[in-house]
Amino acid sequence: MTVRAGREFLAIPGPTTMPDEVLQAMHRPAIDIYSKEMHELTDTLLADISKLFATKGKSYIYIANGHGAWEAALSNVLSRGNKVLVLESGRFAIGWGNAAALMGAEVEVLKGDWRRAVRPHEVEERLRRDKEHTIKAVVVVQVDTASGVQNDIEAIGKAIKASGHPALYMVDTVASLGCMPFEMDKWGIDVAMSGSQKGLMTPPGLGFVAANARALEVQKKANMSTPYWSWSEREGTENYRKYAGTAPVHLLFALRQAIDLLHEEGLENAFRRHSLLGEAARRAVAAWSEGQVLGFNVAEASERSNTVTTVTMSNGHDPALLQRYCKDKCGVVLGTGIGDLSGQAFRIAHMGHVNAPMLLGTLGVVEIALNALKIPHGKGGLEAAVAYLGEQVAV
Ligand SMILES: *Cc1c(COP(=O)(O)O)cnc(C)c1O
Repeated sequence: MTVRAGREFLAIPGPTTMPDEVLQAMHRPAIDIYSKEMHELTDTLLADISKLFATKGKSYIYIANGHGAWEAALSNVLSRGNKVLVLESGRFAIGWGNAAALMGAEVEVLKGDWRRAVRPHEVEERLRRDKEHTIKAVVVVQVDTASGVQNDIEAIGKAIKASGHPALYMVDTVASLGCMPFEMDKWGIDVAMSGSQKGLMTPPGLGFVAANARALEVQKKANMSTPYWSWSEREGTENYRKYAGTAPVHLLFALRQAIDLLHEEGLENAFRRHSLLGEAARRAVAAWSEGQVLGFNVAEASERSNTVTTVTMSNGHDPALLQRYCKDKCGVVLGTGIGDLSGQAFRIAHMGHVNAPMLLGTLGVVEIALNALKIPHGKGGLEAAVAYLGEQVAV
């Protein structure tokens, strides 16, 4: 017997649930890529992406996933042999650093760990020791989707500034843009990147990079650039060149609709929604963890992200069994523990097109699974989430 008929719900951290409006926006013929309509679509999207990053700098759209946008960001500002300082807080900054190494950069990892955020004072100390300024770029993620860590990007920016070091500050916002505050210019970020398929509720396949004046200046002398990623190849008024070829028309229709939905809701409201749903998820996990099997991966409460919660399982309990039950019996797909947490955790995504019933449904299903599989857990997780939202969401 199952109770899974109905719409399967994706509670994985990307691709996320797409709004019906976004799906429908793609259900139309392509348009002439040389038309005025196409030009306007490009211009409004580039302007809106810069606004999402909160920068007066330039934005670029690539037909690529997040890995592509990583490469775009690196290739424009680095030269072979340049040193990149990677700030570890899970898997994704390390992945970005691996890309840099394969592209010919020298990579140093500022050791962190999977259970905590980057410590800004450690960044400052490391940069102060680099008296020769051999480090050319510092890379970090706002949210690490594997560990569930949320880094304080503003504080790291201040630490870099305090060190007096000229390295470019580069930030990955794939799992956070549109879900929580991000202030590229105010926080002193030179290059930011993101992708379409997480908080931005659009199909996978678009990568975004924004660059400030300093980054654009560095680009002039950098030698890793290749034609597809190059910012300078995308200059000028010709729309065709802005995509280095044919525009991904349907993905752009989808993105336009998704950003319109975000604007309708109001960005601040979207941030607040993520914060409420993130905390509701944490209330449930906190209750469950009293059974001594489940727990938060991120030790410090203030470092847990509002877009994904990574839940560890110990004492020989296999998260794969729980995930399988949720999917096969109840139609909810949870995220798998990845990297260092492979086989030891599952993840609940709460990013993008998510509301109270989606989150509470997911938490309810996890609770059903915990009961059915007789996994020890504290009672009242779902109730705690419901109570929290009842207190916080005003009449
Ligand atoms: C998903 C993700 C990526 C990689 O994006 P892909 O589209 O899968 O290439 C990079 N960084 C973060 C923080 C992510 O969550």
